[in-house]
Amino acid sequence: MRVLIKNGTVVNADGMAKQDLLIQSGIIREIADHITPELPCEIIDAEGCYVMPGGVDVHTHFNIDTGMARSCDDFFTGTRAAACGGTTTIIDHMGFGPAGCKLHHQLEVYHGYAAHKAVIDYSFHGVIQHINHAILDEIPMMVDAGISSFKLYLTYQYKLNDDEVLQALQHLHRAGALTTVHPENDAAIARKRIEFLAAGKTAPKYHALSRPAECEAEAVSRMINLAALSGNAPLYIVHLSNELGLDFLRLAKSRQQPVWIETCPQYLLLDDRCYEQEDGLKYIMSPPLRNAHNKDALWCGISDGAIDVVATDHCAFSMAQRQQLSGGNFSRCPGGLPGVENRLLLLFSEGVLGGRITPERFVALTSANPAKLFGLWPQKGLLAPGADGDVVVIDPRATTTIRHADLHDNADYSPWEGFVCQGAIRHTLSHGRVIFSDGVFSGIAGQGRFLRRKPFSTLNNSSSRKAASSRIPGA
Ligand SMILES: [Zn+2]
Repeated sequence: MRVLIKNGTVVNADGMAKQDLLIQSGIIREIADHITPELPCEIIDAEGCYVMPGGVDVHTHFNIDTGMARSCDDFFTGTRAAACGGTTTIIDHMGFGPAGCKLHHQLEVYHGYAAHKAVIDYSFHGVIQHINHAILDEIPMMVDAGISSFKLYLTYQYKLNDDEVLQALQHLHRAGALTTVHPENDAAIARKRIEFLAAGKTAPKYHALSRPAECEAEAVSRMINLAALSGNAPLYIVHLSNELGLDFLRLAKSRQQPVWIETCPQYLLLDDRCYEQEDGLKYIMSPPLRNAHNKDALWCGISDGAIDVVATDHCAFSMAQRQQLSGGNFSRCPGGLPGVENRLLLLFSEGVLGGRITPERFVALTSANPAKLFGLWPQKGLLAPGADGDVVVIDPRATTTIRHADLHDNADYSPWEGFVCQGAIRHTLSHGRVIFSDGVFSGIAGQGRFLRRKPFSTLNNSSSRKAASSRIPGA
């Protein structure tokens, strides 16, 4: 099977050029100014379009059971939506397992969720929900099984205390795993929540008011320092939403500490006024949406290189589920947004065509950096001979109005309803097979492969750190 993508502009994180790209047997074989195929092949004309590495979304929650509810996208509908938005790899954050379970318990559960369902390649982040000798001893075996990143929570049911965080950081670092963290100060949130509920303040806006930016920034700064105290363990902050946390992280980067930052389109493009709307329940997620000033600060981090990754935190609960479970009370509403299908186009429209970032930086944020950080480089996140034939073709001349009716997830709404994007996703290829083309999904459940990820390497990831720290204001 051969596919030749002709006349497009091939973009990598380190440069772009008008070139043709040939994929054979699922692998990129050649990239050159003009390729004349010697053997018959399918031809895709990408004249006027960008040809980019397929998106790598390192933050999804498919089929997650939060205890309150199960999200409405499984590994078929979730990866189908991803594919239709130009994403060809996802790394899903495993949910919590039963109390006291081994790390491998959830790995087996998630293999069961994804096998025969995923239409694109996938992997999982491990989750550490308690600490004891058996768990710490199990970490290297998980890394051997291809799970080279783990998540810790500082809030929710299985939050870790500082002593447990220190042990996790040290052992993960030693085993070649990257520590990712959901940073929010649990006690501060609990206190505020008690006060609001006692006063009968249950509307969606109190969700945001109960988790102010300082709750997140405090936990970010604590994690930075605990990671430094753990032999400079590498640290990845998920879904950063606020300026104060970003300032702490900029300081850590300027001190050459190995920290990396992820944010999500919702924190760049939506703000806390959404909670005042009649349908404010749609936007319940943690951390919550912030004010417009924080959005601007995050865009600065996107433009100047401080932020390394844009992911989605796709965690879809339908509006019907939200209303039924919460009765309008924010404290009983399951949190999370759908969005895995919209990440690339939103960032392309607002970032690249909005004049804030170059096409190369777009590739760095959406595929190259996440592939490097999570042990998938150069197989993913790069268009070069030998890399996987995972490609997205984006047409900058088209206009796309997001309508949930056109999307491919299993939610019953989109937080982006009516949002007008400049550009359109024309084609998505996974291993050289067209799985989405001009609005039509043609992927097959079960064709996605589990990716056994390599251990974390500072070698791949030093340059982005330097680039960011060199741009610290006043440094
Ligand atoms: Zn998440």
